[in-house]
Amino acid sequence: MRRVVVAALLAVLTWSGHALAGDFPSHPITLVVPFSAGGPTDAMARILGERMQKTLGQPITIENVTGAGGSLGVGRVVRAPPDGYTVSIGHLGTHVANGAIYKLGYDLVTDLEPVVLLPSNPMIIVSKNGVPAKTLPELLAWMRAKPTPPTAGTAGAGSGSHIAGLYFENITGIKLQYVPYRGTAPALNDLIAGQIDIIVDQTSNSIAQVRAGTIRAYAVTDDKRVESAPDIPTTDEAGLPGFHMTLWSGLWVPKNTPKDVVIRLNQAAVEALNDPAARKKFQDLGLEIPKPSELSPEALGGWQKAEIAKWWPMIKAANVKIE
Ligand code: ASP
Repeated sequence: MRRVVVAALLAVLTWSGHALAGDFPSHPITLVVPFSAGGPTDAMARILGERMQKTLGQPITIENVTGAGGSLGVGRVVRAPPDGYTVSIGHLGTHVANGAIYKLGYDLVTDLEPVVLLPSNPMIIVSKNGVPAKTLPELLAWMRAKPTPPTAGTAGAGSGSHIAGLYFENITGIKLQYVPYRGTAPALNDLIAGQIDIIVDQTSNSIAQVRAGTIRAYAVTDDKRVESAPDIPTTDEAGLPGFHMTLWSGLWVPKNTPKDVVIRLNQAAVEALNDPAARKKFQDLGLEIPKPSELSPEALGGWQKAEIAKWWPMIKAANVKIE
């Protein structure tokens, strides 16, 4: 008898689960940003969320769950119900690099469903104004001459700014002393205040301060200049040829989220990426919007796996220690 009741109950729950997917979304959605408010991931989440909620007809609330290179915020989404109401925004650091650095307790590929690839931008090498260098070769010479390693702000081990720092060390042979923060927003504040020497930052985070003259930019890590800051040279032009890194972002939901819910979220995000006002905001931050052919959930899944294959060997070889 009890077994029959349980089976009936399960049937009702399964059915209501489907009904829920059909109505999705019927209440507000939480978008978990794994870094500090005011930073580059937060900025992207706010532009995107504001436009997506128009399509979805429900508010999108941003929740900043910071710490451990963004791995705590991603873990919060992995453990959430797989119903599309808790969404993870992250990037090459949180959804690729962290798997090579932390004992996460979840798998970045099998415990999450990809939703959509989001805009990307190159990194930018910036220093405090107190550094007596004007060009990249002068900056490298100053770093090499320093008796102690220059301090480099990061958003924690595995974050974009940290991987970019490791890559910079690899290419230049210069040792950095990392100073971890809960996001590059607080790191940038300390750079402006002269508390740290450099950040290999996301262009979208630093660009406004570079324009305001409160910090100094040396190069962007791409083979072409950033449209919104055409006066800043590329690493190829400035003296570090081949130092190319683009930090891409994406959205994910917990594994087993119904396919139609994933598609609904994907469509709302794609609409946001095609919206002229949202595009303008992304472009002003130096962000590049993916091509239409790159915007399916499957495209993000394939890209994430390819990036794991590319970056994990370098990150593992760097033998990153987590305090
Ligand atoms: N994306 C991070 C942030 O929003 C920074 C990073 O990955 O370096 O603060």
